[in-house]
Amino acid sequence: MDYLPIFCQLQHKACLLVGGGEVAERKARLLLDAGAALTVNAYTFTPQFHEWAAQGRITLSEGEFSAALLAEKWLVIAATDRVEVNALVYQCANQQRVFCNVVDDPKRASFIMPSIIDRSPIMVAVSSGGKAPVLARLLREKLEAVLPQHLGKLAQLGGSLRQRVKKHFSDIGSRRRFWEKLFAHDRLAQSLANNDVALAERQIEQLFSHQPQECGEVVLVGAGPGDAGLLTLKGLQQIQQADVVVYDRLVSDDVMTLVRRDAERIFVGKRAGHHCVPQEQINQILLEQAQLGKRVVRLKGGDPFIFGRGGEELETLAEANIPFSVVPGITAASGCSAYSGIPLTHRDHAQSVRLVTGHAKRDGGLDWSTLAAGQQTLVFYMGLTQAADIQQQLIEHGMPATTPVALVENGTSCRQRVIEGELSQLGTLALQAASPSLIIVGSVVSLRSKLNWFSSQEAPQQLAQMA
Ligand code: SAH
Repeated sequence: MDYLPIFCQLQHKACLLVGGGEVAERKARLLLDAGAALTVNAYTFTPQFHEWAAQGRITLSEGEFSAALLAEKWLVIAATDRVEVNALVYQCANQQRVFCNVVDDPKRASFIMPSIIDRSPIMVAVSSGGKAPVLARLLREKLEAVLPQHLGKLAQLGGSLRQRVKKHFSDIGSRRRFWEKLFAHDRLAQSLANNDVALAERQIEQLFSHQPQECGEVVLVGAGPGDAGLLTLKGLQQIQQADVVVYDRLVSDDVMTLVRRDAERIFVGKRAGHHCVPQEQINQILLEQAQLGKRVVRLKGGDPFIFGRGGEELETLAEANIPFSVVPGITAASGCSAYSGIPLTHRDHAQSVRLVTGHAKRDGGLDWSTLAAGQQTLVFYMGLTQAADIQQQLIEHGMPATTPVALVENGTSCRQRVIEGELSQLGTLALQAASPSLIIVGSVVSLRSKLNWFSSQEAPQQLAQMA
């Protein structure tokens, strides 16, 4: 971290601005908005500065900058168009331990001014540490778009209800749940935006009269295949509201960094040298945590209802009358398909797609003759160890040995690797791939040579190399 973001309380605090032009004017406006007691030093001033001075809002100091002007000041901004003056201000400020910002010169700055989104009392500050101001600005524009204007009103309302909420709810958990409901209450936000005070008050009373939940709940959330950007908005909201997150090895580290910091994390995957936590034990953990009144998120790689045993976990909860809900995720087939440039269907190649488990032997047999039929794409999950068998069965049941295949390893992550070849090579190719990998079989794989957009460095494994 190059800079520590802090929000300064500048009300009635003496600050100095050196410069009297338009740039300085913009800085003055910000300092005045923050309530600073502002002295402005320059040889000449724009009319706005004179107007502020006439209104008694600022003090003008006409003439050359001198270090004496820094006495008793909390911070200073140098915004003149003369580099040597700005440098002098910075040097003197440093000597006197006064925080100093030099406009457009991040190297000469003991503090920098971020881009801000003002929804007072909510303030969002964005900074690139002076390295990419345009990127910071673009981010700010995005945030401006997603943060509704009434956010400030909602935060004000929160402030006015704090004492009442403290009295009304004895424990921290139910207080937090009240706040989450209040701040996520779309209709209340709308009433505030419309200034409909009576309706807003009724909605708030309804929130207070709700009984606190005795037992917790479980939300089964699909984390997607790896790239954290593929998590749904709803999934993100859920992991940020969770008391406990139960996760396994398929959930990427990038997604885990989005979990609420003080949420408890329970890992139930396989660690090197150890076995997986048995499914029955995972079901019990979910049940016990919910019975403790916690909001539990069961975070699973991909989509929880596609080879995710999500159904089994929910059955246990349903039997115990624990409330639950499900947030779908992007399954590995969709993620790997998109990030490897292999459309799973295509009018010229495949009219249907089949998601198949490679553990079929264990989970029940597969109908190989329908799988070997043409005009479809097969996607095998958990297929690495069975690849040779898949190859043999498909060829025996009539699929051409030259059918293109791809193995997508660590799909959608920055470690994604795609190995391409023909069905006759599948068993051998699988020996080079690590888990998790997905096997795609079908002529759609040939489209990758045109449609691969994700990684141009990634050298597709050529047939020649394999021969
Ligand atoms: N519920 C998950 C699938 C769990 S089964 C989903 O919807 O994606 C586990 C299998 O999924 C792995 O053996 C592998 O075949 C596949 N898989 C999961 N994530 C993957 C990834 N990032 N890249 C390639 N395959 C993946």
